[in-house]
Amino acid sequence: MESTTSTRKHFTINDFEIGRPLGRGKFGRVYLARLKENHFIVALKVLFKSEIVKEGLEHQLRREVEIQTHLQHLNILRLYNYFHDDIRVYLILEYAPGGELYKELQRKQKLTEQHTATIIEELSDALTYCHENKVIHRDIKPENLLLGLRGEVKIADFGWSVHTPSLRRKTMCGTLDYLPPEMIARRMYNETVDLWCIGVLCYELLVGKPPFESNTHSETYRRICKVNFKFPSSVPAGAQDLISKLLRYNPSERLSLAQVLEHPWVREHSQRILPPCSLMAS
Ligand code: ATP
Ligand code: MG
Repeated sequence: MESTTSTRKHFTINDFEIGRPLGRGKFGRVYLARLKENHFIVALKVLFKSEIVKEGLEHQLRREVEIQTHLQHLNILRLYNYFHDDIRVYLILEYAPGGELYKELQRKQKLTEQHTATIIEELSDALTYCHENKVIHRDIKPENLLLGLRGEVKIADFGWSVHTPSLRRKTMCGTLDYLPPEMIARRMYNETVDLWCIGVLCYELLVGKPPFESNTHSETYRRICKVNFKFPSSVPAGAQDLISKLLRYNPSERLSLAQVLEHPWVREHSQRILPPCSLMAS
């Protein structure tokens, strides 16, 4: 079914029935939509060219599209295709019926060990695939993680991702909570930035707030650079062990993705289920 969406070259807005808005971001408005031809459900992200150009984001958008169309993994949101008219650019995205992990965390305050370990395994598997394809995501955080039908994580938003290695200087926007020390110091960095982010995420999911959260940006920066955080006693020992081995100032001391996947706490608590077809496809 989805083959039409990813193989056909030229779509127009008339090929779709547009449904309810799913949300809006800084630039995009996202709608539930259905391909008229075969009723295939997608999320259609609509961006205004004028806003993209005004902000000088043409290159970033191109890269995002280029990277995301080539990544095909159960835990990475598919970007099937795109098209544009004079005014707008449209991205045809996989629909994530579970919504944002961020909202789920707000609803529940914190997640269980089982749920967190499952997400960490899914993410580590997806990032292994990204890194094998020389892509670093750089922006792993609950706002950029969507949820599939069975609650499985879908990494979205490759707007910040890059091909390795990178010494890009760029103004940072949004939350600082997930920035690794080497990015704050604007040093050369590599794919281990994603391991730092997994550590921050694991902490936030279990505790309900990120480890370096502070009242001011400069205080957050300072705490990140000193790796100054502590665990509430509610965080289980196994998770503390994992997080401590990811939140290392020195990038080369962080666990590898393979080691995260083998970590005893992840192995004991993850309840990741792979759909039968994915076993055959891979
Ligand atoms: P930006 O990428 O410009 O920073 P953003 O990441 O905040 O913006 P978008 O990616 O534009 O937001 O998406 C806006 C909202 O729409 C998301 O926060 C999410 O709730 C919803 N959404 C986006 N894509 C999907 C999707 N594929 N399936 C379901 N909901 C989606
Ligand atoms: Mg986003």
